[in-house]
Amino acid sequence: MNDPAAPGRPACPVCKGSGTAFVRLPKQPIYQHPVPADAVVAKPHAIDLEWSSCSDCAHAWQPNFDESLLREIYKSHYYTPAPDGIGVQFRDEFIATLASFRLNEMPRVLLEIGASDGDVLAELKNRTNASHAYAFEPNEENARIARRRGLDVRERFFGRDAAAGSLEPVELIYARHVIEHVFDFEGFFMGLNAVAAPDADVVLETPSLDFHGAHGSIAPFHVEHVHVFALRSLTRLAALHGWGHRDSGVTPSGNLIASFKKGGSSERFPAPCLGGLQAKLTQRREDMRRLLAGRRLIFWGAGSAGIALATAIGREPDIWTDGNPNKIGKKFVGSTRQIVSPESAIAEASSSQFGDPIFVITSSFQDEILPRIRQLGWNGAIFDGTGHRL
Ligand SMILES: [Zn+2]
Repeated sequence: MNDPAAPGRPACPVCKGSGTAFVRLPKQPIYQHPVPADAVVAKPHAIDLEWSSCSDCAHAWQPNFDESLLREIYKSHYYTPAPDGIGVQFRDEFIATLASFRLNEMPRVLLEIGASDGDVLAELKNRTNASHAYAFEPNEENARIARRRGLDVRERFFGRDAAAGSLEPVELIYARHVIEHVFDFEGFFMGLNAVAAPDADVVLETPSLDFHGAHGSIAPFHVEHVHVFALRSLTRLAALHGWGHRDSGVTPSGNLIASFKKGGSSERFPAPCLGGLQAKLTQRREDMRRLLAGRRLIFWGAGSAGIALATAIGREPDIWTDGNPNKIGKKFVGSTRQIVSPESAIAEASSSQFGDPIFVITSSFQDEILPRIRQLGWNGAIFDGTGHRL
């Protein structure tokens, strides 16, 4: 048996298996999202991060995360909500996956945990003709927008007291990019079990360790991700709380979407091959440093991928832009560079004073961004955040 208390071998938060050092990333940015230009955020702004991985269920987790810091981030320094129609690729992939699981066919009572500004839930409510749609969302700015969409919003974290708000039994519960942030799985599943109708479906979306491990991608490894799930560890976690795997798939963007039902199968999936990920991440950072060395940089994407690349190469871009107009004029914590509109970014980058430029899309929404850059008249080279020329 594994000894959860063995020093230096922290126990897996999913299965209590033993953990070994997996990924280590020094001096990572704490704040992943831009803040108003006049915001003052106390130091530190960077933190050394490490993940362990489980020799049994292949789960990856941060053994030393700082819960109070993360709670503060979620409350005060989180996403800048985007207007409708921006960054919709993940949403569309999720809705298409629900359809492929045949979970979009009946009018139902819906619940989204961590609903952000409610765009997905409002869309699903409309498409499924649902009778009621609950949203749990702790961020004030997002909750306000979700309410305006006609959703029943509970402005708090979802947990063991979820049923306290006297909800009707919920038939479809889903959480997109939430489970990897959860501190307390017991509380999360207690809340889930308390609000779920007897025949409920639960759908979880989270970055796929299988996918990102195979691609040597750093994307899921940032401060807010206490966990990075493989299909093997996600299904193990759900099974331990009474939810059997029904269906799952990985989107082209590398997100695992899995559906569960009470009881049901508890089949075991193979562990992904994760050897060499640390070496791949180091290699990729060196490749990016070489590619971008001495060039004037334009980044499109002022979110976690952008700040991660700036950290990896040791400098900020000369111009930083984003398709979300609500981010224009904001800046990253510790930076003096304001985010500018795509129009002014491309005008400045195209001027003759701006020598030897290179354009990098630092966002997962590449398919939306690339045509906009071309449409705005940029004819130069464009790369993605891993150094592939687009
Ligand atoms: Zn485990």
